[in-house]
Amino acid sequence: MNTALPLRRRDDAWEARCPLCRQWTGLDEGWSARYGLSRCRACWRLYFAAKERGYNTNEYRHACRLEAQRTRYWANHEGHLTAARRWRAANADRVLAYNRAYRAAHHDELLAKARDYYAEAREVILLKKRRAA
Ligand SMILES: [Zn+2]
Repeated sequence: MNTALPLRRRDDAWEARCPLCRQWTGLDEGWSARYGLSRCRACWRLYFAAKERGYNTNEYRHACRLEAQRTRYWANHEGHLTAARRWRAANADRVLAYNRAYRAAHHDELLAKARDYYAEAREVILLKKRRAA
């Protein structure tokens, strides 16, 4: 947090801008030297009220940040998907080479997975085959 409080002179009185609520308030009525100048008196009142209700402001800020991150993620989601699809279309040969190398490197693992799947879903697979025939 910026420790330099922005000050301005207005109507023969000094005003400072609160770093939290961004409001300009007069130094004599809006600020309390007792609690410190990290927030204005109104913000201190909100802080104490929140503390009294049993949740701390760090949790509140954390929740706000998570919400903002979630919003940003979903706002950019479609764009990221489009960019990924475009990249894969432009680099189809690289994707193919990567998949081939992956399959070669994980051959046994993939085979075991496929065998497990077949053992688990054998009845359903055979049923589908009988229906298709
Ligand atoms: Zn404030």
